[in-house]
Amino acid sequence: MLNSKDRGFCLNSLQDEAKHIFLEKFSSGQYKTEQLKCLCGKMNDVLVAKFDRYGIPINTLICKNCGLMRSSPYYTCDTLINFYKEEYRPLYVSNSTCSESKFLQRTLYGENIYNKIKKYIKLKHNKVFEIGCGSGGILNAFKKIGFTVHGCDYAVDYVQYAKSNNINIDIGSYETLTKYGQADCLILSQLLEHIPNPIDFLKSIKCLLDETSILYIEVPLIENIANIYNYDIFSYLQNAHVFYYSIDTLKELLKNSGYKIIKAEVGVRQNEFGYVICSVNDKCSNDKYCTKNHFNSVIKKINNFENKYKSKKHQKDRMKICIFGIKISWRIKHKGG
Ligand SMILES: [Zn+2]
Repeated sequence: MLNSKDRGFCLNSLQDEAKHIFLEKFSSGQYKTEQLKCLCGKMNDVLVAKFDRYGIPINTLICKNCGLMRSSPYYTCDTLINFYKEEYRPLYVSNSTCSESKFLQRTLYGENIYNKIKKYIKLKHNKVFEIGCGSGGILNAFKKIGFTVHGCDYAVDYVQYAKSNNINIDIGSYETLTKYGQADCLILSQLLEHIPNPIDFLKSIKCLLDETSILYIEVPLIENIANIYNYDIFSYLQNAHVFYYSIDTLKELLKNSGYKIIKAEVGVRQNEFGYVICSVNDKCSNDKYCTKNHFNSVIKKINNFENKYKSKKHQKDRMKICIFGIKISWRIKHKGG
């Protein structure tokens, strides 16, 4: 298990208050957790950490049977619904309003997604959908290119903001999109890692796709601890994430949920998350989650990142001065190491 002492985020007063309220609700019994089995059905794990980046107590485990990393015990369904309504945004975004700059930033991000997927899009419906689209910045990029766009999200003020920008967004789950038929491309950007039953979810959303459609899934992969989280696993771990996929375990999940992988990238540039482009695999009919064991490779990656983080921190902690042209450096001692 990794030691979280002096790790993770410094919280501002709004975040600190949200965290306090969240933890109080567990003490009073209003919020509850339950054991969550791995997708492979096993509960035979290695404990990686006991806290997330906000200092919230939550166990992160890696399954010895398949290598999938998850949070368990995890929040019950009722707890999650309330958490996303009440504390999630003050804790994560540290405000609850949309802004034009964020919308435009997401539009640029959407253009970036389009560049990655354009050669795989077969124009048939001329439609692009996004589940969990927030204020619709990504969809705005596709709208500007000429697609009809539809999205859904639970956050009412985001949806209203999207409507003020003429983006069609429904309040609710993927089911609100079924009335629009099928899309050429369905986007899930930083959504899948929040979903406690991803196999059922991935199977359900197939009604939005046909044989020519593609599904674009982007998640913060374990590999992204290097390029996005500066090698710090305690910046990566967050209580809203129930599963932490590596590129291999994400591909296994998609195959087991009836998808064919077209392209998979881990993301190496700064701020570039991993993604998979896939399509519906009609021939897949397996009911049992069947996967290779990726435990060794996942543990190895985490240990490598942790070593790199500690050596970078070590470097940073060395004071450097120059006396008469001679470089001298020494290590600053920290309380508690
Ligand atoms: Zn497993």
